[in-house]
Amino acid sequence: MTMAVTNRRSSVREAWEWVDRQVPHRRQEEVDVRQAAGRVLASALIATDDMPAFPRAMMDGYAVRSSNLAAASGTNPVILPVSGQIFPGVQGDAGSLRPGTVLRIMTGAPMPSGADAVVPVEHTGTPTQVAGPRHDFVEFTRPIEPGKNVGPIGEDFRQGDELLKSNRRLRPQDVGLLSSAGVARVPVYARCCVAIVVTGDELLPAGSQPHGHQICDSNGPMLEALVQRDGGQIVQYLQVPDDPEAILKALQSPADLVIVSGGTSAGREDFAPDLVRQHGRLDIHGVAMRPGNPVGLGTLEGRIITLLPGNPVACLCTYEFFAGRLIRRTSGLGDWAYQVRILPLAEPMETPLGRTDYIRVRVLGKQVHPIARSGASRLSSTTLADGFVIVPETVASIPAGDHVHVYCYDRLQSG
Ligand code: AMP
Ligand code: MG
Repeated sequence: MTMAVTNRRSSVREAWEWVDRQVPHRRQEEVDVRQAAGRVLASALIATDDMPAFPRAMMDGYAVRSSNLAAASGTNPVILPVSGQIFPGVQGDAGSLRPGTVLRIMTGAPMPSGADAVVPVEHTGTPTQVAGPRHDFVEFTRPIEPGKNVGPIGEDFRQGDELLKSNRRLRPQDVGLLSSAGVARVPVYARCCVAIVVTGDELLPAGSQPHGHQICDSNGPMLEALVQRDGGQIVQYLQVPDDPEAILKALQSPADLVIVSGGTSAGREDFAPDLVRQHGRLDIHGVAMRPGNPVGLGTLEGRIITLLPGNPVACLCTYEFFAGRLIRRTSGLGDWAYQVRILPLAEPMETPLGRTDYIRVRVLGKQVHPIARSGASRLSSTTLADGFVIVPETVASIPAGDHVHVYCYDRLQSG
């Protein structure tokens, strides 16, 4: 049974304001470029050099002086001797092209001075009319423009260019770019250190077979995945019985944020709220929302505590509203993990005034269908759903055809 947990429930907005006040001053740290993908950049990064720093061949072929081939044609081929070859990564000077010759060159190799174009190997031939070893000569049957197949200095980026803006969640290609610019350590926001505490005597650890009157923990694995998604760092994962001593110890985990699942209401075995009250502050207990009413928010000995109801949908929903917001803000990310689609309701929706509702919906043919049977204990309502709609406490009904914001479970924000 869900009980009214305090005389005065807070509104979702008040609870958000509380969360936003707790977000710790954003700490920064430096991480190895190979660990930086997915992290949020804490300052803009500027290129200290041109990339590439030298003109380079873009094809396998021959480095030539284009003026030598001006008259080349099928009927009047130009035959030139090969005076050497250049590979990518050549040490020291790239050398120079002797007048009247060509150099064999591979993609990525530096252009020799005196050469201004690369003729791809497939546009050349082996001359039949020369004496001696034929591979020492190449036949050209068409002219080439100066600069052709040459990647100029700074083609990718120039010294002083802003490579990436701050507050960007780094993509795999971003860390590739930073590495190409010689960045070894990347300034990012520190992650929120999170302890997950799953309570409930009836719970078997994730991965067990349910038996008797015991059920398997679904909130632990779900919360772990949510925290990871939001850029938090899980420093502790505990499953504890409904025992005040064990719960207090877990509440004192070394973390910025302790997320407790279960035992948040006013039942006999619900110890966490009183423990937070006794050893810290329980600023909010009870939020006018459904599911998730018995959520608790407080602090204890320097840690932020979120008490999330055990009913799995309530746990998911209150994580998204409060714990996730806190972790995401700490990591430099936006408040919601999901992209929003604005779509019309297929049927009217009724929800009581004075309470925020988290309505699971399906999107069929670009219309929004609320999922009818969707109690807080039915986690399958969220796996069947494509997303959710938040109906604020000031709204009692939404007529069919009205557009609503659908937060899409499968469409994650990039930042
Ligand atoms: P509680 O918040 O502890 O009162 O739990 C409310 C309901 O959610 C009860 O039916 C619990 O058995 C169930 N529940 C609590 N924690 C979990 C969990 N980690 N996984 C699945 N169900 C849970
Ligand atoms: Mg319980």
